[in-house]
Amino acid sequence: MHVELKSLVVMADLPVGLNYQDHVSAFTDIFLDEIPFNESQHVTISKFQTISSFIKYLLFGKGPLTTGPVQAVSFFDVDGTGDFCVSEEMPKVQIHSLMGPLQDDPNDDINQQLNKMQNLKPNTVKAYGEHNTKRVGFLATACVLHPQSRGAVSLASADPLQRPIINPNFLSETRDRVVLKAGLRHIRDLVKTRAISSLGGYTLDSKYPTRERIAPDADPESEEYLEELMEHFGQCIWHPAGSCKMGAEGDTSAVVDPQLRVQGGIQGLRVVDNSIMPHLTSGNTNAPAIMIGEKGSDLILQSYK
Ligand SMILES: Cc1cc2nc3c(=O)[nH]c(=O)nc-3n(C[C@H](O)[C@H](O)[C@H](O)COP(=O)(O)OP(=O)(O)OC[C@H]3O[C@@H](n4cnc5c(N)ncnc54)[C@H](O)[C@@H]3O)c2cc1C
Repeated sequence: MHVELKSLVVMADLPVGLNYQDHVSAFTDIFLDEIPFNESQHVTISKFQTISSFIKYLLFGKGPLTTGPVQAVSFFDVDGTGDFCVSEEMPKVQIHSLMGPLQDDPNDDINQQLNKMQNLKPNTVKAYGEHNTKRVGFLATACVLHPQSRGAVSLASADPLQRPIINPNFLSETRDRVVLKAGLRHIRDLVKTRAISSLGGYTLDSKYPTRERIAPDADPESEEYLEELMEHFGQCIWHPAGSCKMGAEGDTSAVVDPQLRVQGGIQGLRVVDNSIMPHLTSGNTNAPAIMIGEKGSDLILQSYK
């Protein structure tokens, strides 16, 4: 439809761009106040960017560059979410634990870009940043593994160099909100465990609910508060998929068939990337993208045998 609107010739009327999805998520900062702050062990983005970090890594394979930002991931079938999953055996929520809490370093360009990329409100960043300096902590992100909300990618113009319009439509389905809130609650429950509470663990919001940050009047345990948390710290985790869905013959919502061939009478054209996923995978998408690439190349080779 959007192609017609831009006066382009329609070769096949396929639902390209629909079924767009991503692992929608929201994060919260966790602090461990019983662990004394140690500047040399404190990881900040600016420490990654130094020449000495590069030299340490290149010559000795040591230093901050030996690790990625995500230190641990865990998968949960959170309670109270009903049957909101593709299959009951699959986890509903993934939690990424990142190496440090949210920072606000005006002198660090990458830090500023990251905060912008995450669409964080400047006031929130400032309030969090003030608290987070010189404290030991980490950032935990809950993500909805099988979102029900669907967005769309469409053309902005007939010019192929123009950026497309991406409407992610995140959290438009109530189910996704329920699962995400359950994931955020689960993070709070983890923080209350003996292992973490014995280290003086707390989430920033639960300790300072009345500070001028988000929903200062709401009880941090309330639904209302979690809704606000999602609004302020909701984001995707850059796992776009689904906009050229693979489907069986006769599936009108599909763009490609199980051989990854574009339908609608188009010859000699395949789509081989994460956009063919009918549903997102139960975890990060890099390995699945490689798998799809491997399988796609096999299918292409087979077709020439
Ligand atoms: C910030 C961020 C963090 C992520 N973290 C993780 C993670 O921790 N774990 C994980 O599993 N996944 C992660 N992902 C997701 C993962 O990177 C993607 O799922 C994966 O890279 C998709 O692989 P791809 O080959 O399909 O696409 P890409 O990796 O995007 O590769 C597409 C390639 O095509 C090239 N290209 C584009 N247009 C053209 C053109 N017209 N002509 C020629 N070349 C072109 C691009 O330059 C690029 O090299 C992350 C993504 C982002 C953005």
